[in-house]
Amino acid sequence: MTTTDTTRTGPADALAGAFAGLFGRHPDGVWQAPGRVNLIGEHTDYNEGLVLPFAINRSTTVAVAARDDRTVRLASGFPDAEPAEFDLDTFTPDQAAGWSAYPAGVAWELERAGVTVPGFDLFVSSDVPVGAGLSSSAALECAVALALSDLTGAGLGRAELADIGRRAENNVVGAPTGIMDQSASMLGTKDCAVYLDCRDLSSRPVPLGLEEAGLLCLVIDTKVSHAHASGGYAERRASCVRGARAMGVGTLRDLGAADLPSAERILDEKTFRRVRHIVTENARVARTAELLGTLGPLAIGELLDASHRSMRDDFEISCPELNLAVDAARTNGAIGARMTGGGFGGSAIALVPVNDADRARSAVLAGFAARGLPAPDVFAVLPAEGARRL
Ligand code: ADP
Ligand code: MG
Repeated sequence: MTTTDTTRTGPADALAGAFAGLFGRHPDGVWQAPGRVNLIGEHTDYNEGLVLPFAINRSTTVAVAARDDRTVRLASGFPDAEPAEFDLDTFTPDQAAGWSAYPAGVAWELERAGVTVPGFDLFVSSDVPVGAGLSSSAALECAVALALSDLTGAGLGRAELADIGRRAENNVVGAPTGIMDQSASMLGTKDCAVYLDCRDLSSRPVPLGLEEAGLLCLVIDTKVSHAHASGGYAERRASCVRGARAMGVGTLRDLGAADLPSAERILDEKTFRRVRHIVTENARVARTAELLGTLGPLAIGELLDASHRSMRDDFEISCPELNLAVDAARTNGAIGARMTGGGFGGSAIALVPVNDADRARSAVLAGFAARGLPAPDVFAVLPAEGARRL
């Protein structure tokens, strides 16, 4: 099983070349931000809870050059991403269409935060699969946010830039996501996960120790598409707000295991299950971080499994393809597996001993083939460094 090289000198030159071909001059710089896998802690971020994602060795790279005027020109290597152009002085969020809403949103939110952004030309290229639950959106936002912060000398901190990315996604793209994805992309460090408390936004790196334990993290991209901006995600979010209100607390972070019996009496059956997922998931995140610090990653398999069951049965954000991926990996060598990301499709992750990786991968592919489902992508990811200038 191979993993992608994390050194990126070559791609930076290639991207600068593509930029020059398109805009007829050299970029001022090239910036890169990774996608992420969430090890554990799903839908907890917008409940002021705990998350434990890590940045991966798949990333989005932007070549950017400032302009003398207030024009922004955007282009992407993605075949279906049309070039876009707008003026910073007249831009409003309702003008942003398609993919350009992400970089335009970052520029707009930086200006709202008091940073004067010059016009700029930008070309983007990425090897983060889109819509796979690995947060190609946050990778794009963070690469652009870091580039514009550097170019303007704004000197914003990484946590602030993560929040600029989130605001761009919430206010300009129109997806009601939390702060997890952008935090992982901005704050990730090599071989570590980011333990993030979404209440006070404090964070610390947690060494994963995968290599030392002889483990690989496999991603199984089911290719089933999810729709964050509407539907399930927003509905779950609303249910969490309802549950907290009915329980008389500000957010579900204020509830612990001891509150679940009264929650079961007070809430309707479905809302109770939504609440139980968040409460137990926060505890699993804390326990996972603790175990990683003591016994190492071989000890966290059961927590990943329990997280998946909770998302499948209580929060109901899984789907048959994700359950199949998790079950096939789990019965063929994985020590733990769960769906990752917002749900309703996207990817699952499995922690697999290196020697079992091929067996687990083949079993997943065979399982999908046997049900006549399109083949998923199965690949290993490494915990990598967060956003940076190349
Ligand atoms: P995910 O974040 O799970 O990959 P999203 O639906 O949140 O899925 O974000 C995917 C969207 O982000 C794409 O549809 C596209 O609009 C935009 N995007 C991400 N990467 C790129 C890129 N390299 N070029 C153009 N658009 C991109
Ligand atoms: Mg996204």
